[in-house]
Amino acid sequence: MSNNNTEKKKLNLTTIILVALLLGAVAGVIVHYAVPESSFRDDVLINGIFYVIGNGFIRLMQMLVVPLVFCSLVCGSMAIGDTKRLGKVGVKTIGFYLVTTALAIALALTIGTLFKPGVGLDMSKVQVADVTTQEATSLADTLLNIIPKNPIGALANGDMLPIILFALFVGILLAGRGEKAETVANFFSQFNDLMMDMTMAVMKVAPIGVFCLIAKTFATLGFDAFVPMLKYMGCVLLALAIHGFGVYQILLKLLTGLNPFKFIKKFLPVMAFAFSTATSNATIPLSIETLSKKMGVSKKISSFTIPLGATINMDGTAIMQGVAVCFAAQAFGIQLSAGDYATVIATATLASIGTAGVPGVGLVTLSMVFASVGLPVEAIGIIMGIDRILDMTRTAVNITGDAVCTTIVACQDKLIDKDVFNNDAA
Ligand code: ASP
Repeated sequence: MSNNNTEKKKLNLTTIILVALLLGAVAGVIVHYAVPESSFRDDVLINGIFYVIGNGFIRLMQMLVVPLVFCSLVCGSMAIGDTKRLGKVGVKTIGFYLVTTALAIALALTIGTLFKPGVGLDMSKVQVADVTTQEATSLADTLLNIIPKNPIGALANGDMLPIILFALFVGILLAGRGEKAETVANFFSQFNDLMMDMTMAVMKVAPIGVFCLIAKTFATLGFDAFVPMLKYMGCVLLALAIHGFGVYQILLKLLTGLNPFKFIKKFLPVMAFAFSTATSNATIPLSIETLSKKMGVSKKISSFTIPLGATINMDGTAIMQGVAVCFAAQAFGIQLSAGDYATVIATATLASIGTAGVPGVGLVTLSMVFASVGLPVEAIGIIMGIDRILDMTRTAVNITGDAVCTTIVACQDKLIDKDVFNNDAA
């Protein structure tokens, strides 16, 4: 009953955000074309109400980044610390998760560069706040800067790479201490839950934030903003489809010999569940059950790899972030170098580890990816309006990656009953 209610609420929020998006676009277009140029239009509406409320919402999201990423990475790496006991399986799983995530971002960057979703959107007109500029640092210093001289300083400044390194260190050592550090471990996991609650609370005002952000964009740009936004959405969906139905299935076939069509057919209800809830975490039980009952994958493997995947493996999210980087760079006319692309692949892979499996968090960690190559976070405002639908789709891809990896690892360790997998009636 309560589950039904939460699901209903989530779906309602999705609908409300989409309605807010459409209304915001309509309001923006009306303001752009029907309200004559005046101080009321420019100062009160566009740069007053729309700007303050919209950017207020972005700031609420930004407020969450450091504590959320830190706690969820500590918790995630505590799980990695446990893998010592699981030896080979753990190393293989983590290797698979990292490699497929890097592949996913590379695919997203290729599609974003080929289709250029941000070209034609002149963000310099929308943007009034300061554009982040990046100081050139040498490769040696960039590497050295990953080690924080002062972790508290890194947290205070929001320097993501040092934060990530420190969090990984804390998490792995915490796992090693086991019961002796139970209080600290509990603190992090409870604080992590608190941050997730806060994310949910912030998401409640998302419709208002989205309305204002989109209204401001369209009020400033008129119809010029439609095409790039649709293109951005198309690029993300295309990359998600290629990764989910292409890359994963090829890997499954090559590494196990199992039939990918059977896998997709049996796994589809789990994808639908992930799609409607936009939450990897909530999908964990259904995924483990489906893998066990319909595909014969032993729970010995899945009970470890699925929750770990839901915490650290977010290929769908990484794809959105890759396309978003291209979109923002093109919209702001910022040229990205080969080194920048490599940085994006590295940070988005780490961001995917730090992204919690709940709705909307991918957008929060996106600001860290943007910051790593000096892109202005304001571009997230435009993307945010249409993010809910993409969040639903990428969550389906996120959990498919976990399940494919689990099946491959189970197959290699002979912990799968292939008769069950091949039995259509299972
Ligand atoms: N909603 C995603 C998930 O749960 C995370 C995100 O990309 O926001 O997998």
